[in-house]
Amino acid sequence: MADRFPRDGMPQIAFMGRSNVGKSSLINRLVGQKGLARTSKSPGRTRMIHFFAVNRDAYFVDLPGYGYASVPRSMREEWQGLVESYLEGPSAPDLAVVLVDSRHPPTPLDLELVEWLRGRGLRMQVVLTKIDKIPRGDREPAVGRAIDVLDLATVAPPLGVSAVTGDGLPALWRVLDDALAAGRRTSSRNAPPRGAAVRSASHRPAHTNPPQHPTRGRSRP
Ligand code: GDP
Repeated sequence: MADRFPRDGMPQIAFMGRSNVGKSSLINRLVGQKGLARTSKSPGRTRMIHFFAVNRDAYFVDLPGYGYASVPRSMREEWQGLVESYLEGPSAPDLAVVLVDSRHPPTPLDLELVEWLRGRGLRMQVVLTKIDKIPRGDREPAVGRAIDVLDLATVAPPLGVSAVTGDGLPALWRVLDDALAAGRRTSSRNAPPRGAAVRSASHRPAHTNPPQHPTRGRSRP
């Protein structure tokens, strides 16, 4: 299973979250290409991991959404098997971006995912999506709530972003750039991609400041 994922030395950033959290919209906005990551409302059609080559020097990895109430147990287990084989395998991402809808408290599934990532020492950034949908005065409380529920007091605080207005994207890009730079420094993988679903995104919108965060998280095996 793990052999199906690219291991060509390019750093990888994985995006994950509940279905409908805004993952496809955010990926499309980040890479500046509408329709690159496809939105799908059907749980049966999202059971794939998509790798998007960004600027030919990084992958954005679109993990299938989780948390459909109607999804049978067998499918949940399939999701878990696929995602775990990627996250625990030799091509594990340099950063796991965990998306949570800013309008709602993180769910037990979100907490489970965060704890699982933390337990494996994976570098992680929690992002609160659709921040444009809540009044400005409610944004800080939403961040505080996510810190409490997901136990993030000692790590980087969640970032509120909007794929519609672009709010928060420069701050998110700083975190992504930092993780990509760290991934490039530590990467020693040279195998060519094998059989994964790789599509290309050649354009990336300009973002302003250089990375500001110190290197966090694990080093690559
Ligand atoms: P996914 O299932 O996680 O990939 O979620 P989608 O990207 O398909 O988004 C789900 C719904 O939320 C769609 O109707 C989007 O238009 C909407 N949406 C996504 N991001 C935002 C955002 O930042 N702001 C607003 N207002 N709507 C958003």
